[in-house]
Amino acid sequence: MDAISNGWFSEIQDDLWPGQSFSLKIKQLLHKEKSKFQDIQVVETETYGRCLILDGIIQCTSRDEFSYQEMISFLPLCCHPNPEKVLIVGGGDGGVAREVVKHPLVKEVHQVEIDDRVVELSKKYLPSMACGFESEKVKLTIGDGFEYMKNHKNEFDVIITDSSDPIGPAVSLFQDSYYELLKNALREGGVVCSQGGSFWLDFDYVKKTMNGCKLHFPKVGYAITSIPSYPCGHIGFIIGSLDANRCLRDPIKKFESTEIDSLHLKYYTSQIHSAAFTLPRWIEKHFYA
Ligand code: SAM
Repeated sequence: MDAISNGWFSEIQDDLWPGQSFSLKIKQLLHKEKSKFQDIQVVETETYGRCLILDGIIQCTSRDEFSYQEMISFLPLCCHPNPEKVLIVGGGDGGVAREVVKHPLVKEVHQVEIDDRVVELSKKYLPSMACGFESEKVKLTIGDGFEYMKNHKNEFDVIITDSSDPIGPAVSLFQDSYYELLKNALREGGVVCSQGGSFWLDFDYVKKTMNGCKLHFPKVGYAITSIPSYPCGHIGFIIGSLDANRCLRDPIKKFESTEIDSLHLKYYTSQIHSAAFTLPRWIEKHFYA
């Protein structure tokens, strides 16, 4: 089935999310190409602004991206006492880099993205996200995050995996062995946070990935954010800390509302941080059993 038909893009993924699909009305197809790693489309939508689509899956829309980018960045940053050196894996649109550099204690951000075409097209079509690459704190490497991690030991305070879904080039970023590499790449007390799917749709996958994380991290949590353009209108984050005494739902760094305003945060607050870890009963039982 053609993903764009009669002026609508439909996210039809029979393997990942059988029997359902989210659709957006399209004003214009701005770009379409097949890179070395994936199909890339950028579209102008009628009500969600610009939208980046990889292998037929929505990655971000300008209307609601801040919910995801702020939460995947500030949840782990605020769980670390001094997040000076941060690694971002994936994140080719630049939105996570844009958020991470805002944290007052962050000094250095390294980013490894597999597909330079995503970066280039984001600079052209999604400047409000790709502005993240303009910060002097950010050093971008084009390469595979899994391979990169093998060569970096005891180096980072926080590692954020802003990957696409577990098909195509991102499959390795959801494996148990990836969490072992993450652990080795962290300094003492380090924190990781990964895009963790939806508990409505990816229940087994989330549970399996959390179990992989638990093999290497003494403290593991799952937090959620509300975001209409992702399947089922929400997405989760898997967060692991090497500090066994860390309570993930209590942010170490608490921002006053004046700070929230000066950092231009629209979604993340210290209250949202804690609330994000509060899960429905049946999910809590399964994920923390
Ligand atoms: N927020 C988005 C989501 O949840 O769907 C993810 C956005 S970001 C565009 C995902 C990026 O991960 C893509 O640019 C993709 O090229 C990159 N990626 C996928 N696999 C990767 C890998 N093995 N190493 C580094 N980057 C990878």
